[in-house]
Amino acid sequence: VPLDPAYPADRLRYMLEDSAPAALVTQSSLAGTFAGLDVPAVELDAPAPAWAEGPETNPACAGLTPDHLAYVIYTSGSTGRPKGVMVDHRSLVNHTAWQAAAFGIGARDTVLQRTSVSFDASVWELWTPLATGARMLLLSSAAAKDPEAIGRVMVEGGVTVAQFVPTLLQAVLGARPAGAPLLCRILFCGGEPLPPALVEEARAAGVGEVVNLYGPTEATIDSTWHPCPAGDGRAPAIGRPVANARVYVLDARGEPAPVVVVGELHVGGAGVARGYLGRAGLTAERFVPDPFGDEPGARLYRTGDLGRWRADGTLEFLGRTDFQVKIRGFRIELGEIEAALLEHEAVRECAVLAREDAGEKRVVAYVVGEARAEALRAHVRRSLPEYMVPSAFVALDRLPLTPNGKLDRRALPAPELASAEEKYVAPRTPVEEVLAGIWAEVLRLERVGVTESFFELGGHSLLATRVVSRVRTVFGVELPLRALFEGATVAELAVRVEEMRRAELPVLPPVVPVERTGALPLSFAQERLWFIDRLEPGSAVYNVPVAWRLGGALDEAALERALGEIVRRHEALRTTFPEVDGSPVQVIAPFGGFALPVEDLSGLGEAEREAAVRRRAGEEARRAFDLSAGPLFRAALLRVGAEDHVLLLSMHHIVSDGWSMGVLFRELSALARDLVGDRSELPPIEPAAREGRLPLSFAQERLWFIDRVE
Ligand code: AMP
Repeated sequence: VPLDPAYPADRLRYMLEDSAPAALVTQSSLAGTFAGLDVPAVELDAPAPAWAEGPETNPACAGLTPDHLAYVIYTSGSTGRPKGVMVDHRSLVNHTAWQAAAFGIGARDTVLQRTSVSFDASVWELWTPLATGARMLLLSSAAAKDPEAIGRVMVEGGVTVAQFVPTLLQAVLGARPAGAPLLCRILFCGGEPLPPALVEEARAAGVGEVVNLYGPTEATIDSTWHPCPAGDGRAPAIGRPVANARVYVLDARGEPAPVVVVGELHVGGAGVARGYLGRAGLTAERFVPDPFGDEPGARLYRTGDLGRWRADGTLEFLGRTDFQVKIRGFRIELGEIEAALLEHEAVRECAVLAREDAGEKRVVAYVVGEARAEALRAHVRRSLPEYMVPSAFVALDRLPLTPNGKLDRRALPAPELASAEEKYVAPRTPVEEVLAGIWAEVLRLERVGVTESFFELGGHSLLATRVVSRVRTVFGVELPLRALFEGATVAELAVRVEEMRRAELPVLPPVVPVERTGALPLSFAQERLWFIDRLEPGSAVYNVPVAWRLGGALDEAALERALGEIVRRHEALRTTFPEVDGSPVQVIAPFGGFALPVEDLSGLGEAEREAAVRRRAGEEARRAFDLSAGPLFRAALLRVGAEDHVLLLSMHHIVSDGWSMGVLFRELSALARDLVGDRSELPPIEPAAREGRLPLSFAQERLWFIDRVE
């Protein structure tokens, strides 16, 4: 009974109680998860395990037959509890022998072991290499969820045989660096319909053969297989039965449907499981007598899948007859999620749906009752694995019904995943801003507030890996996937990223100043601005102007000295961008003093004065810079009255940005204080009253205007 420790403890305990195994083989680090259960535990990493004293010879196993149980794997159960599928040795041996022979798997192969032990694809990933002498490459559980790591390990480890569900294959192909190959002799795909374009993409990446595998857990991993031919553009078939398996397409009366007529797929033969552990009724319902076989007592498994035979003798998959769905390849009974929700005291009624609204299939829960989404999410997490936790919870006054009183699934509204206006908190730091951008991109939302939960916005583990890999590229930190589950908001993640960046700083090479003697290259952002300036010389679009109103007594000479000191301190403010041989270079001029022109407007009448201030500020803001001659930093002081001045500063964006404006303002305040000594201080900026409408800053006005134009 394979148990994935990533499952919720409640679910693991249920599986242990339900299967009542003779012993639990585990590791000391996991012992706590299973504490209090009535199962003897064997800790493989215990310092002096009791079994170390046992004989080294093979155990005597006379009496074992092909009818003994090989494994029990739990799958989602529609009535609210997972059900254990019992598979015999006969069935597993049949699958292993078929796979090894059909694909010539042997000692020269390296098989990727990636699937969680909770799913039966992991069974062949373990047994086929062990039985054929192939090398087995095990991924860590963290890497197994990370499409980029999977691709990398496959190439580095020389993997020749692997299996993915199509959703993950898409992610692995998408996460590769441009042009990087995915060399693999055989790529098995299964668990959900395989898009034809994906087959082409995999082949283009260097995959030898893409094989579509179909089969329920109840018929031992795979029932049919189909090597996808190159470029025939059709939706791949699920193919023909594997060795010693038989597949029937039966109509409602249990009669074989003619070719191209749709029916329910039934599987017979060596792969048919023994049944569901401890569920005789359910077993009888799904495993029915086989009227076509000649073995006495043989049964067929009714898959609940719709399909038909194509004229070429291959089978086609056409969906489900019931509410079992596949989300990212995970098999889910929607009824199990509904049952878990109904256990919450504040839920009166509910319905759960798999919907595809924004190009992504998601589980959505519709709930009648007082419970809030956060509480419900926490509640279902206690018993359901992550892939079964709904992405969205929609509160309804009542469930919509059809005229004859049944739930009207089509009338259930699409969930509102976008950030709601009242909840939206805008990013407050550069890291938050970048993270919010990454989330919006990954979740395909227009914007993301920093206090909203990734999972409430429709995030799931595969999308979380995309966030993690984007964070790695953008910030250069190895954020663990766990981090997103521990702190699911942009704000929380930003704290984490900033901590990691600080912690990881020493590994960065030290920043060493380059010689200032020769021509210096431009940064990419500067090059872009230089180029735009070339296209539209004399444009003021990239001017960064500010106007500060300074109240109180002002020492104009001290202000001039302070500005001069800033220009002396900052090379950027002394830099120009002349052209040398057709390309721009940066030239830093030595400091040659700084003059602050003063214009006296104090003689004008009050109304004229204000008009003159606005006019001059506008002129300064619009005056073009000459990038090659400079200066690219200008200042002017308007004397409005004895205790009233306006300082106008403008810079070209090529030497400044929002961040440097902050630096400039801080330094100016500090310097002005030092320079004026005891006599007076640069007065603090008085905030304007916040009532009513506020005028825009010049920089805002400029951006508003550009937005109007384009
Ligand atoms: P599981 O028991 O988790 O392997 O899920 C089995 C179910 O997944 C089948 O009954 C189908 O509904 C679906 N399935 C498996 N393989 C394929 C495939 N190649 N194409 C379409 N659906 C598939």
